[in-house]
Amino acid sequence: MTASEQTVVTVPAQSGRATRIPEGASLTIVDVEGQQVGDLWIIDAADDTRWLSTAHTRDRVERLFPRVGEQFIDQRSQPILEFLEDTSPGNHDMLYAPCDRWLYEGEGLYEHPNCLDNFTTAAASIGLNPPVVPDPLNIFQNSNPEPDGTLVVGTAKSRPGDRVTFRALRGVFVVLTACSVDYWPTNGMRCTPLEMHIGRAR
Ligand SMILES: [Zn+2]
Repeated sequence: MTASEQTVVTVPAQSGRATRIPEGASLTIVDVEGQQVGDLWIIDAADDTRWLSTAHTRDRVERLFPRVGEQFIDQRSQPILEFLEDTSPGNHDMLYAPCDRWLYEGEGLYEHPNCLDNFTTAAASIGLNPPVVPDPLNIFQNSNPEPDGTLVVGTAKSRPGDRVTFRALRGVFVVLTACSVDYWPTNGMRCTPLEMHIGRAR
């Protein structure tokens, strides 16, 4: 497939974008400038009460994040997304909730952009209002547990142009936020854009 056969959606720094993709389409998340976490939600386009469930997927794959070639599932154990490729050093999180206004208020930061509000705004822009906000895939988030179970968030290891690619296993809504943490260490103290590249259904 050539680049011209892909639709590119830019997600500006500290914001979110939503779109709908058909069954079989590929979805690539590109870290344009590096060290930028993206929160990704995948919701069934035919039933907005079903979505990619991080908890159910951890149970199914018996790992904190699937390997390339494995599938993510919804709350009824049905595959919804396949993990096709990963050019990054490979740290992604499937444990954390999206950042929200209360997290930033705890840091003394008021009216701060955040992934929860950015999800809600982006989802509403395509008429999507799910009953709850699911936990996202935190692409490029470097927060693997220590051997004693401690969770330490480090700076994302992704380099400029690193990408992860998935395939939609049914028609889905996709919401991606470029995470808004602008202090050390999550995004390297610099919030930058992400891109979604959507390929044709295969
Ligand atoms: Zn965030």
